[in-house]
Amino acid sequence: MSMESSASHTIEYVRPGSAAYDAGLEPGDVIVSINGHRLADIFDYHYYADEEDPTLLVRDAQGVEHLVEVEKDEGEDMGVTFVNGLLDDYRSCSNACVFCFIDQNPPGMRKTIYFKDDDTRLSFLQGNYVTLTNMKEEEIDRLIAYRMEPINVSVQATEPQLREKMLHNRFAGQLMDKLKKLYDAEISMNGQVVLCKGLNDGEHLDRTIEDLLSFYPYMETLSVVPVGLTRFRQGLYPLKPFKREDAKRVVEQIQKWQAVAMERYGHPFVQAGDEFYLLAEEEIPPEESYDGYTQLENGVGMLRLLIEEFRAALQERREENECRKQKLSIATGLLAAPFIRMLCDELQEKFPQVEVRVHTIYNEFYGERITVSGLITGGDLKRQLSGQNLGERLLLPCNMLRSGENVFLDDVTVEELEQTLQVPIDIVESGGDDLLEAILKVHSNHVR
Ligand code: SF4
Repeated sequence: MSMESSASHTIEYVRPGSAAYDAGLEPGDVIVSINGHRLADIFDYHYYADEEDPTLLVRDAQGVEHLVEVEKDEGEDMGVTFVNGLLDDYRSCSNACVFCFIDQNPPGMRKTIYFKDDDTRLSFLQGNYVTLTNMKEEEIDRLIAYRMEPINVSVQATEPQLREKMLHNRFAGQLMDKLKKLYDAEISMNGQVVLCKGLNDGEHLDRTIEDLLSFYPYMETLSVVPVGLTRFRQGLYPLKPFKREDAKRVVEQIQKWQAVAMERYGHPFVQAGDEFYLLAEEEIPPEESYDGYTQLENGVGMLRLLIEEFRAALQERREENECRKQKLSIATGLLAAPFIRMLCDELQEKFPQVEVRVHTIYNEFYGERITVSGLITGGDLKRQLSGQNLGERLLLPCNMLRSGENVFLDDVTVEELEQTLQVPIDIVESGGDDLLEAILKVHSNHVR
């Protein structure tokens, strides 16, 4: 972590009526230190700002430094937010993983796409998965002292040599020692394995699950997801896609370990990603096996949750004439399309006046093996939907857009797509109930 820099410690907002407001702090002020402690990052800030009546060294917009005494109780929020929410630069990773998705992007995309973060603070703040390879002993101690939990760990394999090979990092093999330290300190964690055929599957996966299960209950859950392979792998480690038979084996293996974990702890512990069930052509597991959907971000249980939420919301709608006659379209990736189609059929039984066409979008940009809707580009939507009868509206899932922005991964904007396709677009939030509401248009789902 770099030490304090003006840019990253600048106050963006002071909440009116807060302790900081009463002390006269203003946007543009820089907090240099609290009670004499320099701030390495947001965690230092929270730790020291938590104290009763802290004294701040503040540099104002003119560059003049002065002490400010803030009257507040211990534990009371001071009431400021910063221009840089982390108060520090994001940490990049020190690995060169054989399966890295970032390396599988074509050249010429936005610079941020190529940034490889591996920052434990983002794991805590945003749920990112981190490898812990760039963390020194004292940083683990700090994480423990500040109780930064849960920590989401990209495991891949617990065998030292195999992990070093997969992450291409000679320090990657120390993972079990780090996890043990976190376990002993009762820090909660979640694990993830990106499964690569012929590398960390089979008996290696058995060993990984067994090792991580020994850290239960602090290692709370483990997801196993198939490696994403785009068409841009020239010169990269040769990885093969999972076929139906491979996926079946993985699902069976996970189910075997779920039974072990259930017997030992009454908790399934390990989950296979939705993609494995679809590849294996097996039923998506029932809701109870997802135990609170803790690994949704990794594509574990997303389809089951979508189905359950949609059906529950549909069941609540009693009025047969609740909405007018309409024709509309939904576009989604190959993975979710059959499920959305099934749900739309169920909807039409109850609301025959609503006709929904579900369009499967093939990922021509990244290649056919990428089936999730979150990696579909505006260009693919334009090409594949042009000339189609889309009805009066087109619904698109919000994960097709860059987070918080109105553009697709390839920088095509929603307006541009509307112009090309000559249809209004509604962006739909991720819940099954959101989807139903967007179809029935109970309220507008425009997020723009
Ligand atoms: S940790 Fe590995 S997968 Fe993640 S960004 Fe770095 S190289 Fe890529």
